[in-house]
Amino acid sequence: MMLILNGKEVAKEVRSSLIPRVANFFRLKGRPPHLSVIIVGDDSASHVYVKNKKIACESIGISSTIHDLPAGISQQELNSRIQNLNRDENVDGILVQFPLPKHLSADEVLSLVAPEKDADGLTYASLGYFFAGKPFVRPCTPEGVMTILQRYRISVEGLKAVVVGRSNIVGKPMAQLLTEANATVTVCHSKTKNLSDYTRQADLVVVAAGKARLLGKEDFKKDSIVVDVGMHRNGPGGKLCGDVRFEELDGWVKAATPVPGGVGPMTIAILLQNTCVLAEKRAGIQS
Ligand code: NAP
Repeated sequence: MMLILNGKEVAKEVRSSLIPRVANFFRLKGRPPHLSVIIVGDDSASHVYVKNKKIACESIGISSTIHDLPAGISQQELNSRIQNLNRDENVDGILVQFPLPKHLSADEVLSLVAPEKDADGLTYASLGYFFAGKPFVRPCTPEGVMTILQRYRISVEGLKAVVVGRSNIVGKPMAQLLTEANATVTVCHSKTKNLSDYTRQADLVVVAAGKARLLGKEDFKKDSIVVDVGMHRNGPGGKLCGDVRFEELDGWVKAATPVPGGVGPMTIAILLQNTCVLAEKRAGIQS
Protein backbone atom coordinates (compact mmCIF):
# COMPACT_ATOMS: atom_id res chain seq x y z
CA MET A 1 0.00 0.00 0.00
CA MET A 2 1.29 3.42 -0.91
CA LEU A 3 1.77 5.83 1.99
CA ILE A 4 -0.16 9.02 1.33
CA LEU A 5 1.84 11.99 2.56
CA ASN A 6 -0.94 14.09 4.04
CA GLY A 7 0.18 17.70 3.78
CA LYS A 8 -3.12 18.95 5.11
CA GLU A 9 -2.51 17.16 8.42
CA VAL A 10 1.13 18.23 8.60
CA ALA A 11 0.11 21.83 7.89
CA LYS A 12 -2.36 21.66 10.80
CA GLU A 13 0.42 20.41 13.07
CA VAL A 14 2.72 23.24 11.97
CA ARG A 15 0.01 25.81 12.65
CA SER A 16 -0.76 24.35 16.09
CA SER A 17 2.94 24.42 16.97
CA LEU A 18 3.00 28.15 16.20
CA ILE A 19 0.18 29.11 18.61
CA PRO A 20 2.37 29.06 21.77
CA ARG A 21 5.13 30.92 19.92
CA VAL A 22 2.71 33.65 18.88
CA ALA A 23 1.44 33.86 22.49
CA ASN A 24 5.00 34.04 23.81
CA PHE A 25 5.83 36.84 21.37
CA PHE A 26 2.72 38.70 22.51
CA ARG A 27 3.71 38.27 26.15
CA LEU A 28 7.18 39.67 25.53
CA LYS A 29 6.38 42.42 23.02
CA GLY A 30 2.82 43.42 23.90
CA ARG A 31 1.61 42.76 20.35
CA PRO A 32 1.33 39.74 18.04
CA PRO A 33 3.71 39.13 15.11
CA HIS A 34 2.47 41.16 12.14
CA LEU A 35 2.36 40.32 8.44
CA SER A 36 1.74 43.07 5.87
CA VAL A 37 0.51 41.92 2.49
CA ILE A 38 0.58 44.15 -0.58
CA ILE A 39 -1.77 43.34 -3.42
CA VAL A 40 -1.99 45.48 -6.55
CA GLY A 41 -4.97 45.47 -8.91
CA ASP A 42 -8.04 43.32 -9.34
CA ASP A 43 -6.77 39.81 -10.14
CA SER A 44 -9.51 37.73 -8.54
CA ALA A 45 -7.40 34.62 -7.86
CA SER A 46 -4.77 36.78 -6.12
CA HIS A 47 -7.47 38.38 -3.95
CA VAL A 48 -8.64 34.91 -2.88
CA TYR A 49 -5.05 33.86 -2.02
CA VAL A 50 -4.51 37.03 0.01
CA LYS A 51 -7.78 36.62 1.86
CA ASN A 52 -6.85 33.01 2.71
CA LYS A 53 -3.50 34.18 4.04
CA LYS A 54 -5.22 36.73 6.28
CA ILE A 55 -7.65 34.09 7.61
CA ALA A 56 -4.72 31.72 8.25
CA CYS A 57 -2.86 34.44 10.17
CA GLU A 58 -5.91 35.18 12.29
CA SER A 59 -6.45 31.48 13.03
CA ILE A 60 -3.22 31.38 15.06
CA GLY A 61 -3.20 34.94 16.40
CA ILE A 62 -0.82 36.62 13.93
CA SER A 63 -2.13 40.06 12.96
CA SER A 64 -2.11 41.11 9.33
CA THR A 65 -2.83 44.10 7.15
CA ILE A 66 -3.79 43.92 3.51
CA HIS A 67 -2.60 46.91 1.49
CA ASP A 68 -5.00 46.77 -1.44
CA LEU A 69 -3.44 49.11 -4.01
CA PRO A 70 -5.04 50.30 -7.27
CA ALA A 71 -3.97 48.67 -10.55
CA GLY A 72 -2.76 52.05 -11.86
CA ILE A 73 -0.31 52.72 -9.00
CA SER A 74 3.11 53.98 -10.16
CA GLN A 75 6.32 52.04 -9.54
CA GLN A 76 7.58 54.93 -7.44
CA GLU A 77 4.53 54.85 -5.17
CA LEU A 78 4.69 51.04 -4.84
CA ASN A 79 8.40 51.23 -3.98
CA SER A 80 7.76 53.87 -1.37
CA ARG A 81 4.99 51.75 0.22
CA ILE A 82 7.45 48.85 0.49
CA GLN A 83 10.15 51.07 1.96
CA ASN A 84 7.70 52.35 4.58
CA LEU A 85 6.93 48.77 5.60
CA ASN A 86 10.67 47.98 5.71
CA ARG A 87 11.03 50.84 8.22
CA ASP A 88 7.89 50.16 10.27
CA GLU A 89 8.93 48.67 13.62
CA ASN A 90 5.53 47.02 14.04
CA VAL A 91 5.74 45.04 10.79
CA ASP A 92 7.57 41.71 11.03
CA GLY A 93 6.76 40.15 7.66
CA ILE A 94 6.12 41.65 4.23
CA LEU A 95 4.64 39.79 1.30
CA VAL A 96 3.95 41.22 -2.14
CA GLN A 97 1.38 39.12 -3.98
CA PHE A 98 2.33 38.27 -7.56
CA PRO A 99 1.55 38.69 -10.40
CA LEU A 100 1.77 42.48 -10.55
CA PRO A 101 0.10 44.51 -13.31
CA LYS A 102 2.30 44.59 -16.43
CA HIS A 103 3.59 48.15 -16.02
CA LEU A 104 5.16 47.29 -12.66
CA SER A 105 8.54 45.63 -12.26
CA ALA A 106 8.69 42.45 -10.20
CA ASP A 107 12.49 42.86 -10.26
CA GLU A 108 12.26 46.15 -8.39
CA VAL A 109 9.96 44.66 -5.79
CA LEU A 110 12.21 41.62 -5.36
CA SER A 111 15.16 43.95 -4.85
CA LEU A 112 13.41 46.16 -2.31
CA VAL A 113 11.79 44.05 0.41
CA ALA A 114 14.26 43.80 3.30
CA PRO A 115 15.44 40.19 3.79
CA GLU A 116 14.81 40.41 7.54
CA LYS A 117 11.13 40.99 6.73
CA ASP A 118 10.73 38.85 3.60
CA ALA A 119 8.15 36.28 4.72
CA ASP A 120 8.20 34.44 1.38
CA GLY A 121 12.00 34.17 1.42
CA LEU A 122 12.05 34.92 -2.30
CA THR A 123 13.61 38.35 -2.76
CA TYR A 124 17.06 38.46 -4.34
CA ALA A 125 18.78 39.26 -1.05
CA SER A 126 16.87 36.50 0.77
CA LEU A 127 17.76 33.96 -1.90
CA GLY A 128 21.41 35.06 -1.70
CA TYR A 129 21.51 34.41 2.04
CA PHE A 130 19.60 31.17 1.54
CA PHE A 131 21.93 29.78 -1.12
CA ALA A 132 24.92 30.81 1.00
CA GLY A 133 23.51 28.62 3.78
CA LYS A 134 22.60 31.59 6.03
CA PRO A 135 18.86 31.98 5.49
CA PHE A 136 16.66 34.45 7.30
CA VAL A 137 13.83 32.09 6.34
CA ARG A 138 13.50 29.45 3.63
CA PRO A 139 11.18 29.75 0.62
CA CYS A 140 7.75 28.50 1.70
CA THR A 141 6.90 25.75 -0.78
CA PRO A 142 10.24 23.88 -0.78
CA GLU A 143 10.45 24.21 3.01
CA GLY A 144 6.91 22.80 3.12
CA VAL A 145 8.08 19.76 1.14
CA MET A 146 11.00 19.20 3.52
CA THR A 147 8.65 19.50 6.50
CA ILE A 148 6.32 16.82 5.09
CA LEU A 149 9.27 14.48 4.50
CA GLN A 150 10.60 15.07 8.03
CA ARG A 151 7.15 14.53 9.56
CA TYR A 152 6.95 11.10 7.88
CA ARG A 153 10.54 10.36 8.97
CA ILE A 154 11.71 10.09 5.39
CA SER A 155 15.43 10.77 5.45
CA VAL A 156 16.75 11.98 2.11
CA GLU A 157 20.38 11.46 3.04
CA GLY A 158 22.12 9.43 0.36
CA LEU A 159 19.01 9.31 -1.85
CA LYS A 160 19.12 9.97 -5.57
CA ALA A 161 16.69 12.88 -5.93
CA VAL A 162 15.33 14.48 -9.08
CA VAL A 163 13.68 17.89 -9.03
CA VAL A 164 11.59 18.62 -12.13
CA GLY A 165 11.55 22.42 -12.55
CA ARG A 166 14.12 25.14 -11.90
CA SER A 167 12.11 28.23 -10.94
CA ASN A 168 13.39 30.56 -8.22
CA ILE A 169 10.18 29.91 -6.27
CA VAL A 170 10.24 26.11 -6.21
CA GLY A 171 12.76 24.13 -8.27
CA LYS A 172 16.07 25.83 -7.43
CA PRO A 173 15.49 26.25 -3.67
CA MET A 174 14.05 22.70 -3.54
CA ALA A 175 17.28 21.33 -5.04
CA GLN A 176 19.27 23.39 -2.54
CA LEU A 177 17.33 22.09 0.48
CA LEU A 178 17.65 18.49 -0.69
CA THR A 179 21.37 18.99 -1.26
CA GLU A 180 21.74 20.47 2.25
CA ALA A 181 19.93 17.38 3.56
CA ASN A 182 22.57 15.22 1.82
CA ALA A 183 20.56 13.92 -1.13
CA THR A 184 22.31 13.74 -4.50
CA VAL A 185 20.22 15.98 -6.69
CA THR A 186 19.59 16.27 -10.41
CA VAL A 187 17.54 19.21 -11.69
CA CYS A 188 15.47 18.67 -14.83
CA HIS A 189 13.66 21.32 -16.89
CA SER A 190 11.85 21.88 -20.15
CA LYS A 191 15.00 21.31 -22.21
CA THR A 192 15.84 18.01 -20.51
CA LYS A 193 15.86 15.24 -23.08
CA ASN A 194 14.03 12.05 -22.10
CA LEU A 195 12.84 13.27 -18.72
CA SER A 196 11.72 9.84 -17.59
CA ASP A 197 15.28 8.48 -18.00
CA TYR A 198 16.08 10.69 -14.99
CA THR A 199 12.90 10.32 -12.95
CA ARG A 200 12.95 6.52 -13.30
CA GLN A 201 16.41 6.41 -11.71
CA ALA A 202 15.39 8.45 -8.71
CA ASP A 203 14.57 7.38 -5.15
CA LEU A 204 12.75 10.70 -4.68
CA VAL A 205 11.14 12.86 -7.35
CA VAL A 206 9.82 16.35 -6.62
CA VAL A 207 7.73 17.51 -9.56
CA ALA A 208 7.27 21.26 -10.06
CA ALA A 209 6.91 21.61 -13.81
CA GLY A 210 3.57 23.38 -13.86
CA LYS A 211 2.24 20.89 -16.46
CA ALA A 212 -0.98 19.15 -15.46
CA ARG A 213 -0.68 15.36 -15.15
CA LEU A 214 2.74 15.32 -16.85
CA LEU A 215 4.10 12.20 -15.10
CA GLY A 216 2.55 8.84 -14.18
CA LYS A 217 3.45 5.36 -12.95
CA GLU A 218 5.77 4.55 -15.86
CA ASP A 219 7.94 7.57 -15.04
CA PHE A 220 8.81 6.46 -11.51
CA LYS A 221 10.94 3.70 -10.05
CA LYS A 222 9.18 1.03 -7.97
CA ASP A 223 9.13 2.00 -4.28
CA SER A 224 10.26 5.56 -4.93
CA ILE A 225 8.84 8.66 -3.22
CA VAL A 226 6.91 11.21 -5.27
CA VAL A 227 6.17 14.77 -4.20
CA ASP A 228 3.85 16.73 -6.47
CA VAL A 229 4.10 20.52 -6.19
CA GLY A 230 1.97 21.20 -9.27
CA MET A 231 -1.39 22.85 -8.91
CA HIS A 232 -3.94 23.17 -11.70
CA ARG A 233 -7.55 24.18 -11.42
CA ASN A 234 -8.62 22.51 -14.66
CA GLY A 235 -8.01 18.80 -14.13
CA PRO A 236 -10.43 16.06 -15.21
CA GLY A 237 -14.00 17.02 -14.25
CA GLY A 238 -12.81 20.57 -13.57
CA LYS A 239 -11.09 19.36 -10.39
CA LEU A 240 -7.83 20.55 -8.88
CA CYS A 241 -4.95 18.34 -10.05
CA GLY A 242 -1.18 18.22 -9.92
CA ASP A 243 1.72 17.50 -12.28
CA VAL A 244 1.44 13.79 -11.45
CA ARG A 245 -1.29 11.27 -12.28
CA PHE A 246 -1.71 10.34 -8.62
CA GLU A 247 -4.34 7.64 -9.24
CA GLU A 248 -1.74 5.49 -11.07
CA LEU A 249 0.74 5.37 -8.19
CA ASP A 250 -0.83 3.08 -5.58
CA GLY A 251 0.88 -0.33 -5.53
CA TRP A 252 3.93 1.04 -7.32
CA VAL A 253 5.57 3.91 -5.47
CA LYS A 254 6.27 3.82 -1.72
CA ALA A 255 4.85 7.23 -0.82
CA ALA A 256 3.31 10.22 -2.58
CA THR A 257 1.62 13.57 -1.93
CA PRO A 258 -1.92 13.99 -3.29
CA VAL A 259 -3.31 17.12 -4.95
CA PRO A 260 -5.23 18.63 -3.25
CA GLY A 261 -4.13 18.00 0.32
CA GLY A 262 -0.40 17.58 -0.27
CA VAL A 263 2.12 20.37 -0.73
CA GLY A 264 -0.49 23.14 -1.21
CA PRO A 265 -1.59 23.53 2.45
CA MET A 266 2.05 23.53 3.54
CA THR A 267 2.89 26.73 1.67
CA ILE A 268 0.62 28.90 3.83
CA ALA A 269 1.63 27.04 7.03
CA ILE A 270 5.29 27.82 6.31
CA LEU A 271 4.42 31.43 5.50
CA LEU A 272 3.00 31.70 9.03
CA GLN A 273 6.05 29.95 10.44
CA ASN A 274 8.35 32.33 8.54
CA THR A 275 6.44 35.33 9.91
CA CYS A 276 6.95 34.00 13.45
CA VAL A 277 10.64 33.30 12.81
CA LEU A 278 11.24 36.80 11.42
CA ALA A 279 9.34 38.43 14.29
CA GLU A 280 11.30 36.42 16.87
CA LYS A 281 14.64 37.12 15.18
CA ARG A 282 14.11 40.87 15.08
CA ALA A 283 12.97 40.83 18.70
CA GLY A 284 15.89 38.64 19.80
CA ILE A 285 13.53 35.91 21.05
CA GLN A 286 14.80 32.33 21.01
CA SER A 287 12.20 29.95 19.56
P1 NAP B 1 7.36 27.88 -13.40
O1 NAP B 1 8.00 29.14 -12.94
O2 NAP B 1 6.49 27.88 -14.60
O3 NAP B 1 8.53 26.82 -13.63
C1 NAP B 1 8.26 25.56 -14.16
C2 NAP B 1 9.56 24.82 -14.34
O4 NAP B 1 9.28 23.54 -14.89
C3 NAP B 1 10.54 25.49 -15.29
O5 NAP B 1 11.85 25.39 -14.78
C4 NAP B 1 10.39 24.70 -16.58
O6 NAP B 1 11.58 24.60 -17.33
C5 NAP B 1 10.04 23.33 -16.06
N1 NAP B 1 9.23 22.57 -17.02
C6 NAP B 1 8.14 23.00 -17.71
N2 NAP B 1 7.68 22.02 -18.50
C7 NAP B 1 8.47 20.95 -18.30
C8 NAP B 1 8.52 19.65 -18.85
N3 NAP B 1 7.62 19.24 -19.76
N4 NAP B 1 9.49 18.82 -18.44
C9 NAP B 1 10.39 19.22 -17.52
N5 NAP B 1 10.41 20.45 -16.96
C10 NAP B 1 9.46 21.30 -17.35
O7 NAP B 1 6.49 27.25 -12.23
P2 NAP B 1 6.68 27.28 -10.63
O8 NAP B 1 6.32 28.61 -10.11
O9 NAP B 1 7.99 26.69 -10.27
O10 NAP B 1 5.51 26.28 -10.21
C11 NAP B 1 5.48 24.95 -10.65
C12 NAP B 1 4.15 24.33 -10.31
O11 NAP B 1 4.00 24.35 -8.90
C13 NAP B 1 2.92 25.08 -10.85
O12 NAP B 1 1.91 24.13 -11.14
C14 NAP B 1 2.49 25.96 -9.69
O13 NAP B 1 1.10 26.24 -9.74
C15 NAP B 1 2.80 25.04 -8.55
N6 NAP B 1 3.06 25.73 -7.31
C16 NAP B 1 2.40 25.25 -6.23
C17 NAP B 1 2.60 25.80 -5.02
C18 NAP B 1 1.91 25.22 -3.86
O14 NAP B 1 1.74 25.89 -2.85
N7 NAP B 1 1.53 23.95 -3.96
C19 NAP B 1 3.48 26.89 -4.85
C20 NAP B 1 4.17 27.35 -5.97
C21 NAP B 1 3.96 26.74 -7.20
P3 NAP B 1 12.33 25.87 -18.00
O15 NAP B 1 13.08 26.51 -16.87
O16 NAP B 1 13.21 25.27 -19.02
O17 NAP B 1 11.25 26.75 -18.55
